[in-house]
Amino acid sequence: MKTNKSKRRGGASRQSPGAAQGAELRDLPVAKNEEYLADIVGLGHDGEGVGRVNGFTLFVQGALPGEKVRVKVLKLKKQYGYAKLLGIVEASPDRVDAPCPIYSQCGGCQLQHLSYDAQLRWKRQLVVDNLERIGKLQVAGEGEGESTGIVVHPTLGMSEPWRYRNKAQVPIGYNPAGPGSEEGGLVAGFYAQGSHRIIDMDACLIQHEQNDDVVRVVKQAADSLGIRAYNEETGRGLLRHVVARYGFHTGEIMVVLVTNGESIPHRDELVGLIREAVPGVTSICQNINTRTTNVIFGDRTVVLWGRDVIYDTIGDIRFAISARSFYQVNPVQTEVLYRKALDFAALTGEETVIDAYCGIGTISLFLAQQARKVYGVEIVAEAIDDARANAQLNGMRNVQFETGPAEVVIPAWRQQGIAPDVIVVDPPRKGCDAALLETILAMQPERVVYVSCNPSTLARDLRVLEDGGYRTVEVQPVDMFPHTVHVESVALLVRNGTEG
Ligand code: SAH
Repeated sequence: MKTNKSKRRGGASRQSPGAAQGAELRDLPVAKNEEYLADIVGLGHDGEGVGRVNGFTLFVQGALPGEKVRVKVLKLKKQYGYAKLLGIVEASPDRVDAPCPIYSQCGGCQLQHLSYDAQLRWKRQLVVDNLERIGKLQVAGEGEGESTGIVVHPTLGMSEPWRYRNKAQVPIGYNPAGPGSEEGGLVAGFYAQGSHRIIDMDACLIQHEQNDDVVRVVKQAADSLGIRAYNEETGRGLLRHVVARYGFHTGEIMVVLVTNGESIPHRDELVGLIREAVPGVTSICQNINTRTTNVIFGDRTVVLWGRDVIYDTIGDIRFAISARSFYQVNPVQTEVLYRKALDFAALTGEETVIDAYCGIGTISLFLAQQARKVYGVEIVAEAIDDARANAQLNGMRNVQFETGPAEVVIPAWRQQGIAPDVIVVDPPRKGCDAALLETILAMQPERVVYVSCNPSTLARDLRVLEDGGYRTVEVQPVDMFPHTVHVESVALLVRNGTEG
């Protein structure tokens, strides 16, 4: 996953002086701690129901559009407030029982109570709303052609939208009243919402079963050997995280033990127990992180057993993935997304293509199969090392990678006379740098393919490209993260005067 933090921004953090604010809040049509009947009119970008009471907006976690619900006001601001869901008076036809027993405590998924079909419809609508409101772009009506505006296709979802993740990163803690031991035991799971207390978890329904198994095995093995969990508060203890990675196409398994220090007591026994209980394991690594930080990985990784990488394939291309490599977490949908990007690029084998924000070169190599030459740029040096290694692994010579900010490297390429026919961008949530958009406009490729994990910055950037002489033809949302609020999409733009 590229990022998974989304924070509500804007005026909410601005506080007016206490007395004045108190007076203003008293004038609101709702009061704190009071109960109301709310009409839910929408779903916010964190999956919360957007409710109305006497014309006032209340965000209600767990409520769905079209529902009438009983709520209790928890917190008020001038323009909106937060309320707790007490009961459902009229339920949405799209409401389903969340299958996961820890759904309400975990927070990792936000949409399990909404049917999968409705999730896909909501994700498409979110893209449409952003294009219209932020991008001020004309979107074609459903079923209408591109002559009336941008065609936003129905979201491509998964036929089996569970157990799709290939990577688990699970914090380890110590529970004084832990399972199976009077003195307590290790727990592996998730942070209770709003705290750093770790709650034990046996299964995560969006995680591949193999990863659940690995986490359970490491927890039990470490517990049986008396290996201590790291404690964030004291900075003592050893085992911080277990990271498990599974190659869906190769069946290869990597286990990474993230530790607060070099030496692991009973290290060889621990490795032996893991190998015994996880027969398919290919790589067991240790990553050392002694810093006081929320960042999972430290700088140094050592191999305890096996290889330092696992292999996996996307389409016909093989990738070596090391402990810290960025690799898309939903392999089934990654292929759907990349095929769409390739399809939009409409390559014939003659083209020069730039892949901006290329990571470990996954999209670059995908494109290189059908292009004359692909240039990839990425800011993280290790990712570029991986990208070069992956090009070599696949015997692909028509790719060239460079480390640096896309907004600096691509203008330099322009100076060198590189003239792309197609530019693909896949930026992080904040979208493309303004200088990069300017360079794209100056380079005038025939097509721009924009892969986006954030519809609002996508809409903002499409506006700039449209103003600079491009037309957005179509947008394809792809569901990379079922049951979460993340929305991925890929957009095709063509230069005005060329055929869409
Ligand atoms: N296309 C890749 C990775 C996309 S994630 C894939 O599908 O796997 C976005 C990437 O942009 C990350 O790898 C991040 O390190 C990189 N990045 C962030 N800011 C950048 C910048 N200014 N210039 C180039 N790359 C950047």
